[in-house]
Order: sequence, then structure tokens, then C-alpha cells
Amino acid sequence: SHQTDTSKEKLSVVLKERQELEQTRDSVKEMKSFREKLPAFKMKSEFLKVVQENQVLVVSGETGCGKTTQLPQFILEEEISRLRGADCNIICTQPRRVSAISVAARISAERGETLGKTVGYHIRLEAKRSAETHLLFCTTGVLLRQLVQDPELTGVSHLLVDEIHERGMNEDFLIIILRDLLPRRPDLRLILMSATINADLFSKYFANAPTMHIPGFTFPVAEHFLEDVLEKTRYSIKSEFDSFEGNTRRKRKQQDSKKDPLTEMFEDLDVDTHYKNYSLGVRKSLEAWSGSQIDLGLVEATIEYICRNEGGGAILVFLTGWDEISKLLDKLEGNNLLGNRSKFLILPIHGSMPTIDQCEIFDRPPPNKRKIVLATNIAESSITIDDVVYVIDCGKAKETSYDALNKLACLLPSWISKASARQRRGRAGRVQPGVCYRLYPKLIHDAMPEYQLPEILRTPLQELCLHIKSLQLGTVASFLGKALQPPDSLAVQNAIELLKTIGALDDKEELTPLGQHLCTVPLDPNIGKMLLMGSIFQCLSPALTIAAALAYRNPFVLPINRKEEADAAKRYFSGDSCSDHIALLKAFEGWKEAKSRGTEKEFCWENFLSPVTLRLIDDMRTQFLNLLSDIGFVDKSRGVHAYNQYSHDLEMVCAILCAGLYPNVVQCKRRGKRTAFYTKEVGKVDIHPSSVNAGIHLFPLPYLVYSEKVKTTSIYIRDSTNISDYALLLFGGNLDPSKNGEGIEMLGGYLHFSASKSVIELIKKLRGQLDKLLNR
Ligand code: ADP
Ligand code: MG
Repeated sequence: SHQTDTSKEKLSVVLKERQELEQTRDSVKEMKSFREKLPAFKMKSEFLKVVQENQVLVVSGETGCGKTTQLPQFILEEEISRLRGADCNIICTQPRRVSAISVAARISAERGETLGKTVGYHIRLEAKRSAETHLLFCTTGVLLRQLVQDPELTGVSHLLVDEIHERGMNEDFLIIILRDLLPRRPDLRLILMSATINADLFSKYFANAPTMHIPGFTFPVAEHFLEDVLEKTRYSIKSEFDSFEGNTRRKRKQQDSKKDPLTEMFEDLDVDTHYKNYSLGVRKSLEAWSGSQIDLGLVEATIEYICRNEGGGAILVFLTGWDEISKLLDKLEGNNLLGNRSKFLILPIHGSMPTIDQCEIFDRPPPNKRKIVLATNIAESSITIDDVVYVIDCGKAKETSYDALNKLACLLPSWISKASARQRRGRAGRVQPGVCYRLYPKLIHDAMPEYQLPEILRTPLQELCLHIKSLQLGTVASFLGKALQPPDSLAVQNAIELLKTIGALDDKEELTPLGQHLCTVPLDPNIGKMLLMGSIFQCLSPALTIAAALAYRNPFVLPINRKEEADAAKRYFSGDSCSDHIALLKAFEGWKEAKSRGTEKEFCWENFLSPVTLRLIDDMRTQFLNLLSDIGFVDKSRGVHAYNQYSHDLEMVCAILCAGLYPNVVQCKRRGKRTAFYTKEVGKVDIHPSSVNAGIHLFPLPYLVYSEKVKTTSIYIRDSTNISDYALLLFGGNLDPSKNGEGIEMLGGYLHFSASKSVIELIKKLRGQLDKLLNR
């Protein structure tokens, strides 16, 4: 009987395998007919012909028409059919990690293969590919890094650069390099893919390269602006909008310094006559919306309205970022109607999510269940969810901006462009006529800019400059002068200066060995330096945690109505360290412990922490550790313990923070019973109210280092850590002997330390040793 058992088992395995094979075959068949219905399919032969005959082609087409999933596949199929399959090497870049994975997975499924065989992906610190891979989806950043080793892109036969209409910094950077490369690689084919907005711009940039348009079809989408939404939902906008915003707005009015664009916009538009036509609710919302927050209550009410009153179909909600997505998730979970999991499938999707559950996002839910997707910009054009019938658009997106004069970057939600608004609306009409609920008045829509400013004009350029250097593309300024829209020279100068200050570039603007290391770490150079210092000084674990949180996001959530409790929780973690970074570190350690005890949920709830963010930070730590091991700063065979001898020494951790965050230094100056804070660039700044250092009048140590300076109504430093002058002297940037010989200066003389000659000598010796470690 034992034998019959095993043969039965064998039989069932065989049957199961056959069943799976048939299923795959069926789904490939099904997908084949789906593919043939896509607008791109009709253009297949024309597309292949143009690619054959031209080196560069610009393809535009409505989102969802099949550019990303079909065009690279057409090339692959063509090459295979001409028996050149083994030689072809097609690369397609994606601006975001999630889309690289999801597209590769989709195409593999369409071909009935497992992911990583013919079609693979490669994103930062993660890849699924094999020797058989001939079509690779990678993030633009990964390709840029590949160019360091292989500037000629040897062996690449076709390169497709996707989503160029977004004008991301990496894409703008890449096309400068490619334009220079093309004459040297006449056999390389370049295909630029764009939504319909601005294809001509790219054609011109590439010597009037041919363009091709894929006509798409979408159903009409009705549009409701805030006025209608408020009437439908009977929602009244909350007037107790975050009091901090309110206060600063009042302050702004008093000072009437620089008006924010929205205020100006309304003044231009003769607001009074317009206001007459709006209800009080709209007016309140206008005020609330001129701040950076979104009334999630209104979003919730709108979702509820649709679910109660409208027909079936998925709802896609556009929010600005993970904070809001997770807050809304919590809200919906507690909602009487929407919290019912048997009726609603609520799914978040966000650009830096490490992976997404393929099926859930794209598949149709069971008939009695409604899918609600909470998304950021990513669902605007990179990812198409077919069954969306309702779009809720908050009208904002997180956008960075860079103020070169004050050397500060801001990442704030701001109004999207008309082009984006159109794009978002279009997402509702894929399978049937749809409805778009815009949670802002028509007045605002009419005043939106046509297009968004390209990213290269609104971000600090240090990472890019480092990259230009490592690719040996000549001087930064002359290289960037060739961009589609070259950045401001002051912005370039600032970036170079910063890289010199942290020791990544020498006086001649050449990469130092430290600079070389930083090039291989795909991170902001300051964060990269913090990691290197953490491993050298055996504070690895804290450095990993803090760097991951800085590179990703802060795990503390700020509930609007329980702000004081949340602040208290954060202060508890910081103890007497006067450091937001230590608070973050302790919170993470506490979470780890709670997790091992199985009390994660309670811990996060009590301490106002986001478990999702903490988990992602944890993943990122592992990735950073692998990176440090790859570049030889951590030898895993010694065990991580060897790198954590000083991890519990908070003074040491603060010194490492100083090393990483320099030159972000604030001097604390006593003014009677209070302290005033000064930076070199902008003079007086304020500590952000969300910081544990906000209420402190007297600091034990004379300096603060900070991770971010933001400009809203005033200039704030966000997360900060109080540090000593010793930390600065040993770990800060370049030292200059002062003119009279009795002291040391930093930041070009802005910080002066008096010290005797012997102390100066000692510090110099120590610094010399440190430089050796970093520049090995
Ligand atoms: P485009 O790049 O032109 O915006 P895509 O090639 O990404 O279009 O998508 C074409 C169609 O394929 C979409 O309309 C969508 O329906 C479908 N699709 C794409 N990715 C997936 C996926 N991961 N799962 C299911 N369907 C998908
Ligand atoms: Mg696409």
C-alpha cells in the first residue's frame, strides 16, 4: 500500500503540473487577445519599420495604450523571429521602482514565462534577471550607474527611455549623455516614450528625430469640482485645520513678507466677485488648501458618497504621499461602511514601495467587492489600473523645489499642473464612462500652470554632480549647459561647493577617494558619508537606522487632533539628548523589541509611529548593510557585532550624525533667557514645531546639526541634534587655521574656535588619521 501511496502522489503531482500548464496556456491566450486589442498593436509594423530605419524615435500615446508593455516586446519578438534573439539586448528605463517590477512581471505573464527569464528587472539593490534575459526593465538611476562601468553601453541593442514627459532629473540627465553617445554607437537604437503632452520638445532635442503617435481611446469622464462635491457629500470643511498652519498663516499676513503664490493668484483673480458664488464651505476650504494639508475627512466623505450612491467600479484616489495614504487607511478602517473588509478592498500604492502585490492592484475584485486604490502620482501615468471608474483628485502632489540663493530644498505638496490634472481625470475612463471628483474649486484649476517645471530646475544638484564626475563627463557646468533646460549656474556652484566641503571633491573639482566611494552608494552624498562613518567608528546600527529614515521617511506620524500626545511620545524617546535623530533611533529600537514580543501594533499606536514606515526602514537597513559590504566597508564574516562596539554611546552617535550632516550646522546663541539660531546662509532660522528641540530654551551644547531646512512661512530646520564643538572640530568639514594662528575656522570662517597651537596640532593629527580611513 505504501507503493500505491507514492504512485498516487506522483500522479497527483503530474496532474497538478499539467493543470498549471494549461492554466498558463489559457491565460497567455487570453492575454494575447487582450494585447491585440491595445491601440499599440495596430502600429506594430509601422513602429518596427521606423525603428529599423532611424536611430532615434519619439513615441507618444495616451497612457494605457500599450507603450511600456508592448513596444519593447514588439522589438523582442521581431528580433527573435529574425533569429537575432540571442544577440539582442533591450533595456527599458522606468522612473520608479514599482513600475519597473510591475511591468516586467506583466510582460513575463503575457509571454507565459516566469519573471527573470527572458524578461527581468533591476532596481536599486534588487534584481531579477538571468543569462537568458534579453529585455530588462530598470530604473533610470540603475542605468546611469551602469554607465559608470560601461560608458558606451556595450552590447545594448535597443534602449527605451520611458515617461520622459515627466521631466525627471535622471531622465533629463540621461538624454544629455545619450545624445553625445549616439554618434559613437551608430548601431544603438534609442526610443523615447512619452505621454502626449510634449513629444515635439524631445524630437527637436534629438535633431528632429521622427515622432510617432499612438492614438488611444478613452471614454468620456464627467468632472465635478469642489462646489458640487460639497453639495453632494454635505460635508462641511473643518475650520479647526491644523492650528500650526493657521498660526503661521496669520503671521504671514502680519508680516506680509513674501506672499505665497496662491494668495497672489486670488488677488489677481478679483477674488471677491468669485467668492460670492461660493458657499462658505468652499471659502474655508480655499483657506485650508492654501496650506499644505489635505482635508482627509473630505476625501473619506467623497469615497463614502460614491460607495453609497454610485454604480460599481474601482475608485482611484490621488494623494500627495505616504503620510496621507496611511492616515487615510486608518480613517477608512474605522469607517462604519468602508471598514467592512468583506465589501471593500482598500489598497495603497506608492512609488518607493519595495514591491507591490501584483494581482490585488490590477485584478478585478470579486463581484460584490469594491476596490479602492489610494495612490500617489505613480498612478498618474506609470501604472494603469483598468477597472477604475471613479477618480478622486486632491489636486496636489509633493514637489521639491530648490532655492539656490538660500541653499534650501523644499519638499512640499503643491498644486499640480493642468497637464497632470487632465492625466488624472483620464484614469477614470478606461473601460466605461467615468467620473472625476476634484476636491478643489474650478477657480484653482483654471489658475494651475500648464506644465510642471522640470525636476532638474527644482532640486539640489550634488548627487547629480557627483555622478557627472564619476562618468568623467567634463566640467559640471559645461555638461549641464547641454541639458534640455539647463539649471541655474548658482545651483551648480552650490552643489560643487558642498561636495568640496564634505571632502568628496578636491580643489580642482576632481573626485577624492571618498568621493569615489560616495559615487558607488546610490544615496545623497551626506547620507552616504554618514554610513561610511558609522561603519568606521563602530556605530553601524544607529547609522543604518538614521540613514534609512533620512533616505526614506520619518516614522513618526502627526495626528492632527492629538498633536500634544504625539509630541510627548517623541520627547520621551529623545530623553535628554536634545535630538530628533536619537528619538527616531530609540523609537526604532523600541519597535524592534515590541515586534519580537508580538506587541508591535500596540507599541506603534501608543507612540504615534507608522508600522509600515518602520518595516520599510528595516528593509532599507538591510539593503544599506549589503551595500557597505559590497564596497568593503563592512566585512560580514566578522559579524555585525564587530561594527557596533559604540552603538550605545550616544555621544559617539551624535558625532557620526555631525559627520554626516555637516555643513548643516546651526549656531545656538544665547539671547537672555532664550536661544536664537543662526545658519551661515540665511541667518536666523526657527526650529520646526514638530521637533523635540522646539520647546527648549537653553541647550547644553553650542551647536545643532540638522537634516533638512525648509521654507514655508519662515525658514525652519526640521530634525536636529545638539552637538558639541569637539564633534564639529573632529568630524565637521575642512579646517582652516585662523589668521592670527590662535584658532580654527570652519565654513569659510563662519564658525570660529579659539584653541592653542598644541590643541590645533593634535586636532590636525586626528583629522589626518580620519581622512586616511575615509579615503582608503
Ligand atoms: P502605457 O505605457 O501606454 O501607459 P502600458 O503598456 O503600461 O501602457 O499598459 C497597457 C495596458 O496593459 C494597460 O491598459 C493595462 O490595462 C494593461 N496592464 C499593464 N500592466 C498590467 C499589469 N501589471 N496587470 C494587468 N494589466 C496590466
Ligand atoms: Mg507606460
